[in-house]
Order: sequence, then C-alpha cells, then structure tokens
Amino acid sequence: MRIEIATLFPEMCEAVLGESIVGRARRAGKLYVHCRQIREYTQDKHRRVDDTPYGGGMGMVMQCEPIYNCYRAVCEELGTKPHTIYMSPKGRVLTQQRAAELAQLDDILIICGHYEGVDQRVIDKIVDEEISIGDYVLTGGEIPAMVLTDCVARMCPGVLSDDVCFEEESIYSGLLEYPHYTRPEVWEGEAVPPVLLSGHHANIEKWRHEKSLEITAERRPDLLARYTDNKE
Ligand code: SAM
Repeated sequence: MRIEIATLFPEMCEAVLGESIVGRARRAGKLYVHCRQIREYTQDKHRRVDDTPYGGGMGMVMQCEPIYNCYRAVCEELGTKPHTIYMSPKGRVLTQQRAAELAQLDDILIICGHYEGVDQRVIDKIVDEEISIGDYVLTGGEIPAMVLTDCVARMCPGVLSDDVCFEEESIYSGLLEYPHYTRPEVWEGEAVPPVLLSGHHANIEKWRHEKSLEITAERRPDLLARYTDNKE
C-alpha cells in the first residue's frame, strides 16, 4: 500500500512514521509512505500557502493552489487518482472498520490542514472523504494523519509479524480485549490468574473470552449489544 501525506510539517510526520513497527515495515518495503511539503507546490515567491479569510474573522485559511498542485503531482506519479482524505473535525469519526476498508486500497492521499482549515473549493474538487479522529479540535492535521496512518498500516499484510495480532484485538473482534500478564508470576503480592499457567489452551481461550465479555459489558455496553446482535 502507498500512503501519501500532504503537510506543512513533513519532518513531524517522518519523526513518527520512521519509528517502531511502521518505520520497520517501511524499511522492509511492506509499506510505502511519502510525506510531501505543501509549500513546495506553491508559485508564491515567499512560499506562502495561506491567506486571510473572505468575510473576515480570525486566523488564516490554506489556499487551494498549493494543495491542488500537490494532488496533481501525486496523481501524475501514480498514474491514477488516489483515494483522497482530508483530516478534519467536521469529518466522520474514524472507526476500526473504516480503517480496515482503507487498508484494502492501493493508494491514499491524506491532506493535513492547519490554521483555520482549507479553502472549501479544493476540498470540493479533490477530497473523497473527510475523517475526524474525535470530537475535539487540534492545531493541525498531522497528529490525526499519524493516527490514521498507524491504524491503517498495521492492517496491511506483512506490517505486523502475524495478522492474527489485530484480528483478536479490542474493537476489531467486536469486543474489548481480555487483560494481559507477563513475568513475574507474583508482583507486589498479586498473582497471575492460575488458568494462564495451566497450559490448557481450551480453558485459556474460554477464560479470555469470558473476560472480554465482562470488560465490554462494564465499559462499552453499546459494543456488547452490537456483538450480541451480530451473533444472532
Ligand atoms: N476551524 C476548523 C473547524 O472549526 O472545524 C478547525 C481547524 S483546526 C484548528 C486545523 C486543522 O487541524 C484542520 O484543518 C484539520 O486538518 C486538523 N484537525 C483538528 N482537529 C481534528 C480532528 N479532531 N480530526 C481530524 N483533523 C483535525
């Protein structure tokens, strides 16, 4: 999969996406991520990419032309139009299911806004969907783009050591995940649940499933109701 990110802060994105599992997957060629500096696509001699809003008001608005030129450069390189996403608090809130669908695509382009946001005309022209990471407002689209990239990337084949890793996890499975324990067997007087030391795989699976149901009922009754409906 190829993920293009259009941003005013490519170094910020590279710092995150060069590390850990995603960074390793990139270096191993399992995933291609390219961060583009939007300023490189402006004709302005001072490399300006924003201006004051028509109608007045606070803050600056990112202009159409640099974002559109960046989009066209990506289209030209790919030979096709990427699925184009604008990170925005006005978008549909990201879910695991939407991320899993996006992980099936060949190419996505993520546009990071800044200041007051982006001129609506370029959104209308090139954006396929707007995605929010939650009902709060951040200073820029970079952190939301990192959240989306990380979530999509870990569902691309070969990024995690074993694809079962994400299939069993919270949300994806329909339930919240059971608790985990590791060495030592007793810590601060607290022992690991004995069933996990039993070596009896069927009992361990049963215990984990029961714990998943318990924790989901307690914390996310909405998820449990959906899970139960889907089972019927
Ligand atoms: N004026 C905009 C509004 O009220 O909808 C908020 C602009 S915000 C300060 C600047 C940029 O941060 C946005 O263009 C968007 O790219 C990004 N952003 C902020 N919060 C976000 C969220 N919850 N999800 C996704 N992107 C967000």
